[in-house]
Amino acid sequence: MNTIKIKAAKRLGIYCHIPFCLKKCAYCDFSSFACQEEGIITAYFKDLQQEIKNFVKKNSAADILAVDTIYFGGGTPSSVKVTHIEAIMALFKEVFVICDDAEVTIEINPGTLTAEKAGRYKKAGINRVSVGLQAWQDDLLKMLGRVHNQADFITAMKLLKAAGFENISVDVMYGLPGQKLVDVLETVTELMAFGPTHLSCYSLILEENTKLEKLIASGQLKLPDEDQEREMHWAIDAYLNDHGYQHYEISSYCKPGYESKHNLKYWELVPYLGFGLGAHGYYNGQRYGNTNALKSYSDLITAGKLPGIVEPEMKPAVMMSEWMFLGLRKLNGIRDQEFKACFGKSFFTEYQKVIDSLIEENLLEWDGVVLKLTPTGQDFGNRVFMAFI
Ligand code: SF4
Repeated sequence: MNTIKIKAAKRLGIYCHIPFCLKKCAYCDFSSFACQEEGIITAYFKDLQQEIKNFVKKNSAADILAVDTIYFGGGTPSSVKVTHIEAIMALFKEVFVICDDAEVTIEINPGTLTAEKAGRYKKAGINRVSVGLQAWQDDLLKMLGRVHNQADFITAMKLLKAAGFENISVDVMYGLPGQKLVDVLETVTELMAFGPTHLSCYSLILEENTKLEKLIASGQLKLPDEDQEREMHWAIDAYLNDHGYQHYEISSYCKPGYESKHNLKYWELVPYLGFGLGAHGYYNGQRYGNTNALKSYSDLITAGKLPGIVEPEMKPAVMMSEWMFLGLRKLNGIRDQEFKACFGKSFFTEYQKVIDSLIEENLLEWDGVVLKLTPTGQDFGNRVFMAFI
């Protein structure tokens, strides 16, 4: 096991992937597919349960680690029968020590939520919901190929509130074809009526081989230019800051105290397990990624194996690099003192030239304690992150 002490190594997060959706959205290249066949879904959940059991059998230390975050992502976890989610939650409680104050999140698509599902998620111990709105305007939702419309979103938010959910995150996208600044502002303004505790605001990334990429390549749709896209980002930023949200990660805003505890693990190199098709994990200083192929996933599990390809133990140089560029995603930056606690030396010893040049370019700032992105650095985040690789 790696001897470098990454913080909170005694706490674990769990990511659980549910790959099924009602239909594939036009921009999506996630590990997900349109499927509502109960036979396939039931077989998948049987394999998922077995994967969790196989993991615990092969990692006897895992069951004594306290789990403080669980995240059901997808795909569309809310598209499957609630009994499947309940069964996985019951298994987690059986094989892991779950902290009393664990953050347990499920992603939901507004078109797939019912009052019964919302109530039973709550009863199963889920206490945070991430709702994929993306845009307030029905024409944009249609262009994205989403299954829901604005009315479905409003209904879903009412159902979640009625079921007692207070910690609700909403996903918003900007930089969309045909989207105007006024649309983006309308989206965040309308959202205020629902009082979300957290917003994830993503700029569209055009992925290869998606329907949207083809529509743009053929000239049927046009993306806003870079200046317009940045204007949308800064308009969202100003609006949310004025309304009591903290910009704590490059794409994430929250009311005070409502950062996503689970996502923070990704940016702080804290261990987490990934279960399910295409899921990734980071455990014992090693990253692993499960196969994306449903049949191989099932075959490996049936053979009593784990469906992940485990990467070699991370070398200290790789760990330091990840610590830097993942940590700099957080708007309150990274502390040299914490780097020293992990790696026994200052980040200046390792990256003096890189840091100096990024400060020179006004992409990073250093106040003697904290190193963080400047506003310009937010616009050129990828350039900053790449400099540490
Ligand atoms: S609902 Fe999410 S995972 Fe499913 S196709 Fe759409 S973007 Fe992809």
